[in-house]
Amino acid sequence: MLRNLAIVVAHPGHELVVHHLMERTQPSYFCLTDGSGCSGQPRIESTSTLLQRAGATPGAIYGRFSDREFYRLLLAQQTKVFADLAGELAQSLIDFDVRCVAGDAMEGFNPAHDICRALIDSAISVVEARSGRVLQNYEFAVYDAPANGASISLQLDDAALERKIAAATAYREMHDEVEAALGRAGRSAYAVESLRPASTQAMLERFETTPPAYEATGEQRVATGRYRDVIRYREHVRPVFGELGIQTTAAERLRMIARGESEANTPGKRDALDLVPR
Ligand SMILES: [Zn+2]
Repeated sequence: MLRNLAIVVAHPGHELVVHHLMERTQPSYFCLTDGSGCSGQPRIESTSTLLQRAGATPGAIYGRFSDREFYRLLLAQQTKVFADLAGELAQSLIDFDVRCVAGDAMEGFNPAHDICRALIDSAISVVEARSGRVLQNYEFAVYDAPANGASISLQLDDAALERKIAAATAYREMHDEVEAALGRAGRSAYAVESLRPASTQAMLERFETTPPAYEATGEQRVATGRYRDVIRYREHVRPVFGELGIQTTAAERLRMIARGESEANTPGKRDALDLVPR
């Protein structure tokens, strides 16, 4: 069904969302951080075990950063690191002859998830420009409930659902989250895996007027002493998007109005901003 698939996620454990898809397609799998979170204990080894059982192969970017390092880079506005990462991801997609990518959706829940989505979109643009091929670009919900509008829905049979729940339960570091999710949504929520076309542009437009939820979460955690700094969209995340060539058409429109230009006389703009897969 999905030929030469790559899965690209921010954190180890996200692959549980698409466990059966991995069994069916045996993708290459890219993961930005080692999942060490605040505890400093990496959980990427549990993902290695899961991938091996599901038949997926780790890619060149696999647990590259600790979560602390990732957030430090964002806070320090080290945008070049992310541009290099997008270039590296693009090269890997070419090396693996990837034709289809599925990964984290931009949800405004966690800045690393949103950066991951921007890296995917940016890398795909590079691959398309270099290869002349159009790649399929799908997202899956990591935090939000899967929304309507899935263009690919995979219904798990009983055996596949059993294997998925066994994999989730065996993922020691995710145990509490898995139990909570099963308690909240029940087993049936695990029985369908949904991919939808990347909705990056719509989220970018939303963030122009409504700050992502991670800002409020960060403020609470700074207030309780758990975090030292708040990661903010405009200050820390949007500059990375800019470096990656991911910008909102809304923001671009406003800038053009300020410059007294009209959209019609901006040649090539659509190509540069058209990140929604066809
Ligand atoms: Zn995550």
